[in-house]
Amino acid sequence: MTGPVLLITGGSRGIGRAVALKAAREGWQVAVNYLRESEAAARVVSDIRSAGGNAKAYAADMGEPSAILALFHEVVRDFGRLDGFVNNAGIVDQTARLDEMSDERLERMFRINTLGAVIAAREAVRRLSTRHGGQGGTIVNMSSMAAVLGSPGQYVDYAASKAAIDTLTVGLAREVATEGVRVNAIRPGVIDTDIHASGGLPDRARDMVPLIPMQRAGTAEEIADAVLFLLSPQASYITGAILNVSGGR
Ligand code: NAP
Repeated sequence: MTGPVLLITGGSRGIGRAVALKAAREGWQVAVNYLRESEAAARVVSDIRSAGGNAKAYAADMGEPSAILALFHEVVRDFGRLDGFVNNAGIVDQTARLDEMSDERLERMFRINTLGAVIAAREAVRRLSTRHGGQGGTIVNMSSMAAVLGSPGQYVDYAASKAAIDTLTVGLAREVATEGVRVNAIRPGVIDTDIHASGGLPDRARDMVPLIPMQRAGTAEEIADAVLFLLSPQASYITGAILNVSGGR
């Protein structure tokens, strides 16, 4: 198969799934990472293949450094190259105040959302950068409007874990700007996916509507549109940018 190769973490459901499907429609070969939902990941792969594309699913925990290293190794082994990376996997937890959160919760939040994302970005640079013999490429990090809003009374830990992604994006973009690698981020607002149920608030996307200037939640496909733009040659002079896709919130 031909076509540039994209690795997306958390590609089995929600935003990652939408990015994987749209990327395949736009000619990317897609490596779909997931954690537990092997059937959902297999469906994404089979949807891409039945439409004539190329994709493969990879189970790897983005909270486990050795699994992240193995993931990148396996993707390049299987596809022979890497051209784009969408650093998307992320979690929330139950709504709580910071003074109610356990050490275990905080450690898990930052291990997956921040440490895992930083390690994954490092592994992507090691494959993409001309400094490492790569052909260049593009990284899109998945931040959140929470990084700006702080999520008081809901999940300040999550917000802080995503603020680090903003800083990673700006610093890494400048660090590798002459090495053929562009690094950008998206800050989704309230997007209608399973993530809210996993935090114990299945109706959150609907409940937040009054606080959103456009008076609706966003869709995973609307985030995918922005990701694919940042991955594309149309964004060739964009690096270090953080794009709010949040209905004005
Ligand atoms: P989602 O529907 O809950 O899907 C999460 C995806 O991440 C799934 O594919 C899941 O795999 C995977 N995942 C979770 N933990 C993982 C781990 N440790 N290792 C590897 N994969 C893991 O979430 P989403 O709403 O699409 O969110 C995607 C990203 O957007 C996250 O970074 C999130 O913080 C960010 N975001 C979302 C919103 C929103 O309102 N939805 C807003 C702002 C930012 P399995 O299917 O195997 O569980």
